[in-house]
Order: sequence, then structure tokens, then C-alpha cells
Amino acid sequence: MKIAVLKEAAGETRCAAIPETVKKFIALGAEVAVERGAGEHASVPDPDFETAGASLGGRADVLKGAGIILCVQGPEPDSLKGADKGALLVGSLDPVRRREAIDAYAAAGLEAMAMEWMPRITRAQSMDVLSSQSNLAGYKAVVEAAEVYGRAFPMMMTAAGTVSPAKVFVMGVGVAGLQAIATAKRLGAQVSATDVRSATKEQIQSLGAKPIFVENVAGIEGEGAGGYATEMSPEYQKAQAELVSGHIAKQDIVITTALIPGKPAPRLISDAQIATMRAGSVIVDMAADAGGNVEGTVAGENVQKHGVTIIGASNLARSLAADASALFARNLYNFLSAFWDKDKAAPVFPDDDEIAKGVRLTQSGKVVNERLTAG
Ligand code: NAD
Repeated sequence: MKIAVLKEAAGETRCAAIPETVKKFIALGAEVAVERGAGEHASVPDPDFETAGASLGGRADVLKGAGIILCVQGPEPDSLKGADKGALLVGSLDPVRRREAIDAYAAAGLEAMAMEWMPRITRAQSMDVLSSQSNLAGYKAVVEAAEVYGRAFPMMMTAAGTVSPAKVFVMGVGVAGLQAIATAKRLGAQVSATDVRSATKEQIQSLGAKPIFVENVAGIEGEGAGGYATEMSPEYQKAQAELVSGHIAKQDIVITTALIPGKPAPRLISDAQIATMRAGSVIVDMAADAGGNVEGTVAGENVQKHGVTIIGASNLARSLAADASALFARNLYNFLSAFWDKDKAAPVFPDDDEIAKGVRLTQSGKVVNERLTAG
């Protein structure tokens, strides 16, 4: 089995393999071909891949005869000409926004698998690219906020007077939010956090932060489907807006991470609320790519509103390319090796397997995933 590792398109810094995963695939009996320069922005020079046992080549060389093609983001279908029919294409393929590309993969006979549709079950935790990348992004959001914030995070008692600790409020306590809380705490901030899932209350407390929760209207008890949130009732939204208004005026840094799968990001902070914040405050909107949690957010840009900087954070994991690649590459290895059939020297995905059904987009020339075919 030949595994091809693609060099990503411009703008993507991560790489779908690292020398460690190359060695592990070779130990499974596979051959690995890395496109020259694939690890360039992730601190993995070509010779490191060679030392690990991979061959290097241009796009056409690595695709030739490959049964598996690994990528971080879905490549342009045209750039895969020459790939074998039936080859697996595995990466973050962004199936909803890139529907035309998925159709083109099917037409080319590729078996596309979208890692971001990994089911959230215990068995799949080590394969979950959303978690691995969100964790790094949550950390980086706090670091970016600290860089823009014109004041210090920790309390400092000096001969020239006391510097008060920064007040950080994290909205949305999933994987990214938990890491943001932990990072802000380590920097010495006073941290509070909120979510609609009541299960997160204890998690917030266990990190030493203060939970801020709507108490008079029911939120989501326990975990929603697959651990995800759903859209809240208008009554809840109103109660949440009132709660946030009172709290936000006293905050220096707000990190928003709230997402609802398949829906635009919920609007959590209005322009009027931003106006109540002290000048120099910073908001990092980690949901910017999904429409934003904050009024006025522009994805990929910093905007100023009422003296407050709103950072429209876009794919923060990319700015930690070496670590993000390592985790992403291990997610891919964990996924493929879990289905590896030693005798066939290839992964075999049973049709009724929950993981295979979740991630598989195309098969035998057709789009087969229910989330795409259901309209
Ligand atoms: P996410 O990125 O979809 O959303 C981020 C957070 O925003 C979530 O905590 C969500 O509840 C919250 N949110 C949504 N609407 C909100 C609103 N209006 N106000 C405030 N907060 C709002 O979530 P995620 O980081 O992917 O994780 C969600 C859950 O899934 C977590 O409990 C996580 O532990 C769990 N999880 C399980 C697995 C697994 O078992 N394999 C893997 C990853 C995550």
C-alpha cells in the first residue's frame, strides 16, 4: 500500500504527516511518498521525512499508484489528476462548503473521507481532528489576546504600585474554551466562563474559574447529541443576553467559542454590549469563520469598535503549525491503523461501522454520506 502525503495549497501551514507517523505507517507494511516541501511550514524539512523512510517527489510522482492520499485540507480536484480510481482521500474536506469538490472527487472515483465528521464516541477520540486543533486554537486565542491587550494579565505588586489582574470571560466551554480557561489561568488572569450545557459548570470550576450561568431558564442538561449544543429558545437567548450585559462591562478580555453544528454561530455579544467595555479591552471571536459570535467581527481581521479590539480569529491552529501538524498527523494514523487489515496490507472499513459511516463521503463514483444526500 502506497500512502501519498500532499503539500498543502498556499495559506495552509500544516502537514498531514510527520516523521513519526511516516515510520508508523511503514511499520504497518505501507510505503510512504511525501510531496516535496510538504512539511516546509510545519518545521519538518524534506530530509527528515527521508530519514523516517519516506520517498520524496512531485505531485504526480507521489500520487502514482497511491492507495491512500493524506491531506490537511481538501485539495482542488484538478490537482489530483493521475490518482488511482478507488484511492482513499483522507483529510479535513469541509464537505458542506466544498460540495462541488466532493462531487468532483466522486466523479474521479476517489473514496473521500472527511475527518471533521468523525463521530464523537470514545473509540474515536484519538482520531478527532476537531478536538486536537481546537485545543491548540483555544491556547492561541489567549496568547493573541494578551499580545493585543495593552495591560498585563497577572496581578503584580511593585514598588511603583499594583497592576490589577486581567478579567477574562470565556463564552462556550467546549474543547477550545476549556483550553482558553486553562491558559488564561496560567497567565494569572481572573477567569469566568459560560455555556448552555450545564455539564460544563463543573469543568469550569475544576479549572479554578467562575461559572456564569443562566439559572432561571433551562439550558441543556447533560450532553446534547454527540456532546454538541443546539439552538436555544428565544426565552433562553433573552436571559443569556441580560446576564452577559451585566457581566461583560466588567471584563477586559472576552474569548467566544460558541458553535452549533450545521447552523451559523449564535450571536452572543451585541455592539451595544461592546460599547460598555473599558477602552483597550480585547474580544477574540473564535467563531468568526462560522459567522461570528460578536457583532462586527470580520474573519481574519482585527477591527476596532468603541475602543475595543475584536479579533476575528480564523483557524488559529495554523499558527502553531508544528504542533497542529503533529496532532493532526497522529489523528490520521490512529484512524487508518484502527482499520488496518494486516493480510490485505490496507485499511478495511466495514459498511456498518459507525466511524466509517460518519466520515465516508464518496464511494464507487457516488456521494454516499447521508448528511450530503439528505439535501
Ligand atoms: P463546539 O465547538 O461545537 O462548541 C463550543 C462550545 O460552545 C460548546 O461547549 C457549546 O455547548 C457552546 N455553545 C453553543 N451555543 C452556545 C451559546 N448560545 N452560548 C454559550 N455557549 C454555547 O464544541 P466542542 O468543543 O466541539 O465540544 C463539545 C462537547 O463535545 C464537549 O463536551 C466535548 O468534551 C465533547 N467532545 C467529545 C468527543 C468524543 O467523545 N470523541 C470529542 C470531542 C469533543
